[in-house]
Amino acid sequence: MAIKEFHEKLKNRKTSAREAVSGYLEKIKKENSVLNAFLEVFEEEAMRGAEEVDSRIASGEEPGGLWGVPIAVKDNILIKGNIASASSKILGNYRAAYDASVITKLKKAGAIFIGRTNMDEFAMGSSTENSAYGPTKNPLDTKRVPGGSSGGSAAAVAAEMSMAALGSDTGGSIRQPAAFCGTVGLKPTYGAVSRSGLIAMASSLDQIGPITQTVEDAEILFNAIKGKDIYDATSTEKNTSRKPEDAKMKIGIPEEYFAEGLDGRIRDTIDNLIEKMKGRFSFREISLPHTKYAVSCYYIIMPAEVSSNMARFDGIRYGARKHGRDLAEIYKKSRGEGIGLEVRRRILLGTYVLSHGYYDAYYMRAQKVRTLIKKDFDEAFKEVDLIISPTTPTLPFNIGEKSSDPLSMYLSDIYTISANLAGVPAISVPGGNIEDGGKDFAVGVQLVAPRFMENLLFEAGKAVEEER
Ligand code: GLN
Repeated sequence: MAIKEFHEKLKNRKTSAREAVSGYLEKIKKENSVLNAFLEVFEEEAMRGAEEVDSRIASGEEPGGLWGVPIAVKDNILIKGNIASASSKILGNYRAAYDASVITKLKKAGAIFIGRTNMDEFAMGSSTENSAYGPTKNPLDTKRVPGGSSGGSAAAVAAEMSMAALGSDTGGSIRQPAAFCGTVGLKPTYGAVSRSGLIAMASSLDQIGPITQTVEDAEILFNAIKGKDIYDATSTEKNTSRKPEDAKMKIGIPEEYFAEGLDGRIRDTIDNLIEKMKGRFSFREISLPHTKYAVSCYYIIMPAEVSSNMARFDGIRYGARKHGRDLAEIYKKSRGEGIGLEVRRRILLGTYVLSHGYYDAYYMRAQKVRTLIKKDFDEAFKEVDLIISPTTPTLPFNIGEKSSDPLSMYLSDIYTISANLAGVPAISVPGGNIEDGGKDFAVGVQLVAPRFMENLLFEAGKAVEEER
């Protein structure tokens, strides 16, 4: 059930929060042992929350739009008193001392947190295979990955183990798993949603956002979590409701996103969709000429920030401490035993690109390229209101297929990374279907808008849902 429908039923006493929450808990009990989408289910807390909602309604209160809505929370978003491990061994017993600002807002809005979801360790990965707690499986085909790093959240929504979920997106980690699992995923404008209480990966790129069944649900959740927050200096309040000048929105098709490397079936599906949407939108070809540098640029800037953000997990400030004879040995053992291979790879890369003598050649250079990528979008948005592309170049791959080849894994984010580098909002919406190996997959269509223009994403995203 979508959020809006549930809300209507709740209001008209056609259902109760208890009924909804217990339904999802049942589904989790049935499916989670195979899918491994949840690391922990907050069964008692969730039922208690549901009872509270029901008794408030029984006493005559009018329910708010998110009352009783079960939400699955990625394991890098803090809920006070609960474990938040970021799927890492080093934080396996870490309990959050405060609520993330998005959690505070959702609690006030009456939402219910149903559990914490599996992810790639510290959000580094594209398949949820880099979790210290085993991979999550794709509900559409359990031999395949659900995408990542928010794979647990996407799988939870796709398998109807939760009404909606929260994820985080640094280079595609909401949109790519949403695409692989056939759900909707929104990466908001950088600064639109507070990052306070999100375990940082790369602070200039990270954003929290919703993973949902419908575009309307993504809109409802986004409106509930957005806004300026005193705990995040980069957060800001901007009204997003500018209307495009023409009645008919102009959508740009960037040639670089339909080039070699894209699965021909995905291309055809999107071409078809564009044909069907032509009555309501006008389309034109555009160019984002620096696209080819996005992955390289990201894999310099992101690890640089990762290496700095990860320094706090040393067994003393944060994380499980191992015994050692001196400080150096404590650090080495705590980090060596607590932190997985992919995270270590990125700490090494980041330390290298920031080191004296290489800083100018790599980090500074990448910052300049980032500016060029941002300018590509600024230029494009002088011509068009929105940009359309595939979310991923391929359908979900098999578990194990790319785990020994980091470069091919990194390329699965080739279409999503630029939006993070430019700070612009982007949504992935299922835009058609492809049958592969006897299973049915959704094709993720990505829409990108100018900063703080999420409203355009919702409008066009709903059209994708109607026309697909
Ligand atoms: N898959 C990308 C990476 O491995 C993006 C991760 C993310 O968005 N958190 O870095």
